Amino acid sequence: MALVVQKFGGTSVGSIDRIRNVARRAIAAQKRGDDIVVIVSAMSGETNRLLGLAHEMVKVPDAREMDVIASTGEQVTAALTAMAIQNEGGQARSLLGHQVKILTDGAFTKARIKTIEGSKIFSTLKKGQIAVVAGFQGVDEEGDITTLGRGGSDTSAVAIAAAIGADACEIYTDVDGVYTTDPNICPSARKIPRISYEEMLELASLGAKVLQIRSVEIAMKYGVPVHVRSSFSDAEGTWVTGEDKSLEDVVVAGVAYDKGVRAFTASA
Ligand code: ADP
Ligand code: ASP
Ligand code: MG
Repeated sequence: MALVVQKFGGTSVGSIDRIRNVARRAIAAQKRGDDIVVIVSAMSGETNRLLGLAHEMVKVPDAREMDVIASTGEQVTAALTAMAIQNEGGQARSLLGHQVKILTDGAFTKARIKTIEGSKIFSTLKKGQIAVVAGFQGVDEEGDITTLGRGGSDTSAVAIAAAIGADACEIYTDVDGVYTTDPNICPSARKIPRISYEEMLELASLGAKVLQIRSVEIAMKYGVPVHVRSSFSDAEGTWVTGEDKSLEDVVVAGVAYDKGVRAFTASA
């Protein structure tokens, strides 16, 4: 029996049908005998919509209030996912950042996790329930809601996996693994079956948003095996793990890009 964290990104929870699919996946994994903690993102486009509303209200919104509004996207998905699991005959309970409790510093919109308490998650699992945790959010010492920066649900997932000693952290997304470069931009990109934390960190820092950089840093620090895979298929994805002997000779594992950056060469 294993303890597994499954994180589902925005596209994977982008509609009622897709959330039902998440529920079925989590139940199937639990039926295989594992304890399952599901981390969910906001439905695709929702965080942008919420931030857009704030900017419509005022040019420079207050950072504390930004986090109050931005965190609601994940709250909605967590409740819908728990309902979907119940509707499929399973048992589930949603948990928000402050309920878990994911304690962060007070840097609104880009908070860093200080500690994560495991007790609420463990008591939920002990009852045979799937714990559904809202990604992207935490709470600071003052009790204020914080968020972890764009793409922060990856960091929630890996940090929770580290805190509860999970056997693996599965990152379900809209591509079936980590590629040599963004497969949605470069059709000749190749899937990488296994990549070291160091190489993944390099890809992420060069702009491969498939994993938020901080999630890779935490995975490396605590040795969390991360499996990046598609929520739409059962295909094996990419394992991000400690250095593998077969990887020692690989100098460049992939090429990433940053959409906002162009290189210009001035000719004399
Ligand atoms: P999620 O909403 O599931 O968190 P993201 O949009 O944050 O998903 O990340 C997945 C996206 O990352 C893919 O759709 C892909 O376009 C992009 N991507 C960029 N670089 C890579 C890469 N090297 N390998 C795989 N995906 C990549
Ligand atoms: N919903 C947040 C975002 O869009 C966090 C995440 O999806 O990882 O950035
Ligand atoms: Mg993401």
